[in-house]
Amino acid sequence: MLQHDILVVGGGLAGMRAAVEAAELGLDVGMLSKIHPVRSHSGAAQGGINAALGNREDDTTDAHAFDTVKGSDYIGDQDAIELFAEEAPQAIIWLEHMGCIFSRMDDGRIAQRPFGGASFPRTCYCADVTGLVILHTLWEQCQRLNVKVYEEWFATALSVQTGVGSGVVALNVTDGTIEAIRAKATIFATGGAGRSFYKTTNGLSSTGDGMSMAYRAGIPLLDMEFVQFHPTTLKSNGVLMTEGARGEGAYLINALGERFMFKYAPTKGELASRDVVSRAEQTEINEGRGVDGCVFLDLRHLGKQKIMERLPQIRELALDATGIDAIDEPVPITPGMHYWMGGIQTDKHGATPVPGVYAAGECACVSVHGANRLGGNSLLETIVFGKLSARHAADYAARISAPDFNANLLESERSRIGAMLANKGGERVNVVRDEMGKAMMEGAGIYRLPATIQVGINRIRELKQRYKQISLDDKGRVFNTDLTGALELGFLLDVAETTLAGALRREESRGAHTRLDFPDRDDEKWMKHTQARYRPDADPELGDKQVTVTKWQPQARVY
Ligand SMILES: Cc1cc2nc3c(=O)[nH]c(=O)nc-3n(C[C@H](O)[C@H](O)[C@H](O)COP(=O)(O)OP(=O)(O)OC[C@H]3O[C@@H](n4cnc5c(N)ncnc54)[C@H](O)[C@@H]3O)c2cc1C
Repeated sequence: MLQHDILVVGGGLAGMRAAVEAAELGLDVGMLSKIHPVRSHSGAAQGGINAALGNREDDTTDAHAFDTVKGSDYIGDQDAIELFAEEAPQAIIWLEHMGCIFSRMDDGRIAQRPFGGASFPRTCYCADVTGLVILHTLWEQCQRLNVKVYEEWFATALSVQTGVGSGVVALNVTDGTIEAIRAKATIFATGGAGRSFYKTTNGLSSTGDGMSMAYRAGIPLLDMEFVQFHPTTLKSNGVLMTEGARGEGAYLINALGERFMFKYAPTKGELASRDVVSRAEQTEINEGRGVDGCVFLDLRHLGKQKIMERLPQIRELALDATGIDAIDEPVPITPGMHYWMGGIQTDKHGATPVPGVYAAGECACVSVHGANRLGGNSLLETIVFGKLSARHAADYAARISAPDFNANLLESERSRIGAMLANKGGERVNVVRDEMGKAMMEGAGIYRLPATIQVGINRIRELKQRYKQISLDDKGRVFNTDLTGALELGFLLDVAETTLAGALRREESRGAHTRLDFPDRDDEKWMKHTQARYRPDADPELGDKQVTVTKWQPQARVY
């Protein structure tokens, strides 16, 4: 049986940061990725990564922590948020030492741009390709440290034996073999689940695999109802126009040419937090001041030189998709599904309630983002909690002998996958996936109502039944993307189900979760996390988990 001290599932930023840390600590590390690691969705991150570097004396880690708490609409866990903000400056300096080329100010210091919901310009960046630059930096470090990389290996299930995590079952996509990989500690870093929506900024690989694998193995999912809609995405293909554009001074205008954001956020305007800006745009569109379901991102006044220097990628993306050159014309944009605040429940060390199982990055809910994530905090989360989870896992692995692999799991996964290949039920992956995506757009969108959420729930229940009748065209073993697509769809259905269930239960509006029938935040009843537990062939079991407050009591949230 394949075996490691630490097994990292995921080769994006969180996974690579964890693998590098564990390898630096001298452990035997394996890292599994269903796609080549540098193709992970982290590579699409544009705008930047937050840290109170002290470039401005009045910006402090405490200010970063407070902005994050306020951004979270007071439901983020404040002990984790404080640690997160304190770790940020050294995370940037570490990346810099590893060779990450950040954009600079004229005096040579790392440049920082203003981002939504932040009191100071705090977002470090590499032009508008920040994620890609960091991803390549970490990939180099994985090579230097000889991390054993299982490239194009697809994890299908988590092994838990006598209450302890002990690795995963994985499909080697290149030859179709299904193997057990035993580990003392397993770290999930499998990214988000944007593909459960019909339209999203997320790459094809963001299918909630780790969330679902952990959930099915008995680990709770937390706060799944909090789904972020990014204010500036292209309508045609969902592609993101970075918040860095507004950070550099771009305006949002409606069909009448008005800069409407100051009506909704008198102080911050375009740089209010994302939930506020997305709702404002949707209101403008709903009240007839949009054009064809869009408002506009106006960069013209920034001038060609600044656009080409700081935002070249998004100019090109918009030009390719719409034929509009942002230098000369405003770009039509719409709010789009972007980020998963909820995920696998962990503490501030990345540990889940099951010993030996950790989670970091977008698949985890630590919870630092609460009901709404601030732009630039997600890349930071991957670096900070990638490192911390590896440290904790290394410590744990040093104390235990290798646990047993779940004896039945390998065989049951082999027969489950064999049955999928043999199934002649007639349902198609793409049909079920598209119907799920539409149910999520309607049930779990920016504005939510119990009746539409319930329609979504019923739909997902029905799709889960139809999923059992999926037939695949490709019955082969080698590079069978039909098969991996079907496995991903199964994971996404779990994500969809827990999200809608949480949205129906939470009778208030907080952060990105807006219930038209309960328009206000209700701290008395709902200042708590939603915990979803798996029940085979039944609806998820929902419960509460307390929010940790250290020093910031909830206040009215205005920008
Ligand atoms: C377009 C876009 C722009 C963004 N811009 C910013 C930004 O400027 N600043 C910011 O802070 N945040 C940004 N974000 C959010 C941020 O980029 C992500 O939240 C973060 O990079 C996620 O990193 P991750 O390591 O958790 O996951 P990912 O980078 O998504 O990596 C997941 C990894 O898990 C692997 N994997 C998944 N399932 C399996 C499986 N079953 N078996 C094996 N391997 C598996 C994949 O192969 C992949 O390697 C952006 C997101 C998008 C979509």
